[in-house]
Amino acid sequence: MSTTTLTCDVLVIGGGAAGVAAATAAGRAGAQVVLLERYGFLGGLATTAQVGTICGMYLRDTTSTEATPVAGGFANEYAARLQKSGTTKPLRVDQGLWVLPYSPPAFARVADAVVSESGNVTVILHATVAEARAEKSRMNLVRALAWNELLTFQPKAVVDCTGEATAAALAGANSETGATDQSPALVFVLEKVDPGLAERGLLEVRRELRRAVENGSLPAICERLALVPGAGANGRLALKLSLLPANPDRALWQQVTDWERESRALLEPLHHFLVENVPAFRNARLDSVAPQLGVRSGRRILGRARLADEEVLSARKSSLGIARGCWPMERWGKSPRPEMNYFAERDYYEISLDCLRPVELKNVFVAGRCLSAETGAMTSARVIGTALATGWAAGTVAAFQASGHSLDDAVALIRKQTS
Ligand SMILES: Cc1cc2nc3c(=O)[nH]c(=O)nc-3n(C[C@H](O)[C@H](O)[C@H](O)COP(=O)(O)OP(=O)(O)OC[C@H]3O[C@@H](n4cnc5c(N)ncnc54)[C@H](O)[C@@H]3O)c2cc1C
Repeated sequence: MSTTTLTCDVLVIGGGAAGVAAATAAGRAGAQVVLLERYGFLGGLATTAQVGTICGMYLRDTTSTEATPVAGGFANEYAARLQKSGTTKPLRVDQGLWVLPYSPPAFARVADAVVSESGNVTVILHATVAEARAEKSRMNLVRALAWNELLTFQPKAVVDCTGEATAAALAGANSETGATDQSPALVFVLEKVDPGLAERGLLEVRRELRRAVENGSLPAICERLALVPGAGANGRLALKLSLLPANPDRALWQQVTDWERESRALLEPLHHFLVENVPAFRNARLDSVAPQLGVRSGRRILGRARLADEEVLSARKSSLGIARGCWPMERWGKSPRPEMNYFAERDYYEISLDCLRPVELKNVFVAGRCLSAETGAMTSARVIGTALATGWAAGTVAAFQASGHSLDDAVALIRKQTS
């Protein structure tokens, strides 16, 4: 098969929250940018797995009646646009945590708009990167199948926002797997549910599910059903069914296939059970199922610095800080509910630029849920608000590097934009 070769200043791989922010940042900084995304729309897990709420955007606060953004800059702009286009607003949930509920189509629309408006970004959808090569510590060749045609890129700088550090790993960067750290989940929406249930929570539902699991009429996994906070309006209720973390003896491609098939097969008996046994679901109908299972953690780089659990818990600041994290550690492991680890209210930690930089590659930056972090720290840093912030930083530094400017200047600019 012949290939078309394209050059650009900055190649952004992956169009999730981090990739959208990175492409927009690099475009606004004046770089010629190409953004590659393997699906037919932008948003990543925010739209493919329909996770439903943005976390990591506002400081934790148990007293104030208004949400306080953790930082200025692009993440805030994105939230404001979502609020405008989707008639949503920040919502306080447990322990003073604030989230921003969103509708997946609105998230994809805003993503499209911000990328287009930056003026310098060529978006290529249905483009999957499967080869990346480095020479003299620089990634200088990337190949993608774009709608089954082969494209070759020769970028000056690369931002890997694949959620799995795929391009960095293909080009030889050291990485670690996080797939066994956390469980994945399938999000689905039921309609015609008692509208009061979203307020009351799932206590009554869990009681029935426990009974069903104990008497063998449902598999144990069904007890891991949880509400998507803020996603219950007009009788529509978004739920997530968490599975178990990856089996370390199984290749991830096999594991993901099993997860997708098993979780989808459970939806019909689960729905049927709820209709038959829980009055709030008497008339419930299955409205939609997320197109992709949500994989909470995957491969991540071992970078020049590694965000430590301790740095998150002590809300540590960094002189190279390029993004602020304010979400607690939230680990969805083997137990049905997440294990939460909070740090002080109204505080945040900073992520150093070096957590976005593979040791082996000079012109590559990673952002989002594949940056370099310890297991616990990643359960905080992966959320959408923080992914938007690290993506913005990675896009900015990549544009600076491609145009021959110093990374110190990029860090100074990012800190100014987000303070
Ligand atoms: C079940 C679940 C619930 C969650 N709940 C919340 C929540 O309530 N609030 C919150 O803030 N966060 C939540 N999260 C976390 C959050 O959704 C993700 O961590 C965040 O969206 C990650 O953004 P990202 O851009 O780093 O990666 P992703 O969203 O994974 O984006 C990566 C993008 O890269 C593309 N890609 C991958 N490989 C390639 C390739 N080889 N070539 C081209 N493109 C590629 C993918 O298609 C995707 O679009 C949840 C996650 C899960 C799984």
